[in-house]
Amino acid sequence: PAVIVAIDGPSGTGKSSTSKAVAAKLGLSYLDTGAQYRAITWWMVTNGIDITDPSSIADAAGKPEIVSGTDPSAPTITVDGTDVAGPIRTQEVTSKVSAVSAVPEVRARITELQRSIASAAEQGIVVEGRDIGTTVLPDADLKIFLTASPEARAARRSGELKGADVNATREALIKRDAADSSRKTSPLAKADDAVEVDTSDLTLQQVIECVVTLVEE
Ligand code: C5P
Repeated sequence: PAVIVAIDGPSGTGKSSTSKAVAAKLGLSYLDTGAQYRAITWWMVTNGIDITDPSSIADAAGKPEIVSGTDPSAPTITVDGTDVAGPIRTQEVTSKVSAVSAVPEVRARITELQRSIASAAEQGIVVEGRDIGTTVLPDADLKIFLTASPEARAARRSGELKGADVNATREALIKRDAADSSRKTSPLAKADDAVEVDTSDLTLQQVIECVVTLVEE
């Protein structure tokens, strides 16, 4: 592929909006890896897999077929042919995704999928997630690590969820990031060669411009 951009960071840093806009501006494909972990979690929940039991999750990890559409202006995600773009954003899936994505067999399966999507993207791709720069695509041309204060992140998420309680959102977000950061297999982490951008006091446009400039350098 022409250029591979890895954008990692916790939730509520503007990662998705930034990644999509940068990809659209530069004519690159776009992959939301969080959506893939949410999709496999949705499948586990829908099929009655006991998500408190890592070995049940591991046994089922190879079963669902997850397909991601990589057009940044209209990204899609299906599981066994069903459009799950809506169902993967429910609170139930959000509260369970960290447990499912901590299972090594799940990570191995999804990581393989991500690498094949990235290598097929001839014009280049922006891949957003938690472990893209460290594990999935360690040879990416540019690695960005987005951060923001807990307050800024909770406020953004509450805005997106329209009317959700800011304190409850903040607590849930901190809990999910702690789980994602402390798992044994490829945790949420900044790669040594990533550029860190603190988005707390930046507008979305400013973050997009900053990343576009870094890609073009
Ligand atoms: O980005 P998003 O908030 O949709 O990600 C949902 C969850 O998927 C994260 O909280 C994390 O548990 C998992 N994830 C991951 N590795 C990635 C991307 C997401 O473990 N590269």
